[in-house]
Amino acid sequence: MTRDARPGQGTLSRPCPCGTGRSYRDCCAPCHLGDREAPDAVALMRSRYAAFAVGDAAYLWHTLHMGHIDRGRDRDEVLRELKVTMHHLRYRGLKILDSTQGGSSASVLFLAKIFQAGADRSFIELSDFLHDGEGWRYLHGVAVPRARVNVPAETLTIALFSSLAG
Ligand SMILES: [Zn+2]
Repeated sequence: MTRDARPGQGTLSRPCPCGTGRSYRDCCAPCHLGDREAPDAVALMRSRYAAFAVGDAAYLWHTLHMGHIDRGRDRDEVLRELKVTMHHLRYRGLKILDSTQGGSSASVLFLAKIFQAGADRSFIELSDFLHDGEGWRYLHGVAVPRARVNVPAETLTIALFSSLAG
């Protein structure tokens, strides 16, 4: 598949936006560059957050499950929308709160710290993932603004979030 321009050495040596503490080169870059698939759903989630942060819309499309609603739309149109979104948002950190994985399906609960023109747009999302035989793919998610969640994000579990969001 076609990829956007490859990241420069400066970007590669910086800390990965997904927050593992590893350099981008040693963390999510190999997934973005198509050198390997994320080994599990949490790693895939991390790599998608990092893709938003570095502006890799093609990877976001690549990791959308065929059952995701956007897969029924025109690829170029979706990529254009993603690029506009990414241009206006600042990605300040990712925290994985909980996850479950069984066979070829998995769920990940996370806090995405995001700002838009200085305003806090952070949200907590429970995302569902499926393995399509090639790699883990994002199927759908339920997101709630962080400000609407009345408990510390760090105390949330998938069960608790589901009861709050439901
Ligand atoms: Zn990473």
